[in-house]
Amino acid sequence: MKNMSLTTKYIISMLVGIVVGLIINYSGLNSEGSFVNEYVILGLFTIVGKMFITLLKLLVVPLVILSLISGVLGIGNISTLGKIGAKSFGLYILTTAMAIATAIGVALIIQPGVGANQVSTAQFTVKEAPPLSDVLINIIPSNIFEALSSGNMLQIIFFAIMFGIALLMVGEKIKPIAQGIEILNEAMMNMVNMVMAVGPYAVFALMSKAVAMLGISMLVELGGYVFVVVLALIIHLFFTLMIMFKFFTKLSPMALMKKLRGMQVFAFSTSSSNATIPVTLRTLTQKVGVDNSVASFTVPFGATINMDGTAIMQGVATVFIANIYGVELGLSGYLTVIMMSILASIGTAGVPGVGLIMLSMVFTQVGLPVEGIAIILGVDRLLDMLRTIINVSGDATVSIIVANSEGKLDKSIFNNPLAGDEEVHINQEVENKIADAIHTTQNKI
Ligand code: ASP
Repeated sequence: MKNMSLTTKYIISMLVGIVVGLIINYSGLNSEGSFVNEYVILGLFTIVGKMFITLLKLLVVPLVILSLISGVLGIGNISTLGKIGAKSFGLYILTTAMAIATAIGVALIIQPGVGANQVSTAQFTVKEAPPLSDVLINIIPSNIFEALSSGNMLQIIFFAIMFGIALLMVGEKIKPIAQGIEILNEAMMNMVNMVMAVGPYAVFALMSKAVAMLGISMLVELGGYVFVVVLALIIHLFFTLMIMFKFFTKLSPMALMKKLRGMQVFAFSTSSSNATIPVTLRTLTQKVGVDNSVASFTVPFGATINMDGTAIMQGVATVFIANIYGVELGLSGYLTVIMMSILASIGTAGVPGVGLIMLSMVFTQVGLPVEGIAIILGVDRLLDMLRTIINVSGDATVSIIVANSEGKLDKSIFNNPLAGDEEVHINQEVENKIADAIHTTQNKI
């Protein structure tokens, strides 16, 4: 394991996790009250997995705010900032629209659920989705500490940009503060590196637990639906996004896919674009060569408003449930689905399971029974993991395209296959210094 790159370690941990999970599931070791269930799945795996996701979440808010302020100071020009904002917003909407159109197209060709007489006993309680007016009003925080403590990404982005611009307006005097923020931002990145160094163990625990609890039997039951979702996800990732990437940057999509692999493993095992923000930022700045001034804005913005994978699930689910209930949606119905999915993804953050809440919003709008969601509930956990990969890959692709168009993509980093993939560890010298510092402080106390 010692000389392997971090990405290879994540992938191996994920695969071993899946195998261990399947063994536990098939051998029935996960039965309620059993030792493995109590102490390994609900004990060890849950503790390690939760601690890790909490660690990632811990980094999100300070990382976003520091990197965004330093990004605004780095750009140093309000009109460039506006251009980056407009371009990324436009591309995010475009990719989401393309994703959902692909999903509806593939689903209409394959027609999953036709002739099925599925009756589900599962219950789904509808959560209220926020109306668009609230989404707009809520971009402005009334209390920044509340926004920070609840991790409201759009509000944090709003404040950080406004504050960054205000700092710029101060002029020359800002230099020492700008440097200070830069240093703090670098320190936050070091924290990300530390968390990533323990990542492989957590990825193993998260995967084993998910697979042990889910198994794959229900995949067969809802096979048609799962198949179409996965197919549309693959088309979007390998064709739509990669063709866009090639078209705009003229760089190799194969090289990009390699660089994004580690980040995708994180998205898959955490099911959350938000929790993956630190990893996405690190991947883009250190492996791909996107300048922090662009990534610091486009990544948290994308994690909040751009959900290509989730939109795909919604498109397929709409066709599937309409087929099951024998409802004809027609062209205007499908156009409404496209519009609603885009709006819904802007208003909801990238956290596990949020896609279903958005789906209830879409169903209500086109007049499909919301209870239909109960039918697909069983497979949603797994599909959530898969679609989160596409969500973060969409964020990354758009960030790179925007950076490239602004001359903020360092191609020498992109062309170095080893960039940012070195072993991360704290060296002995730093460790000694930390020990000394603790010692001196203790003596003083
Ligand atoms: N888990 C997804 C994400 O964080 C959202 C969803 O589809 O539920 O991007």
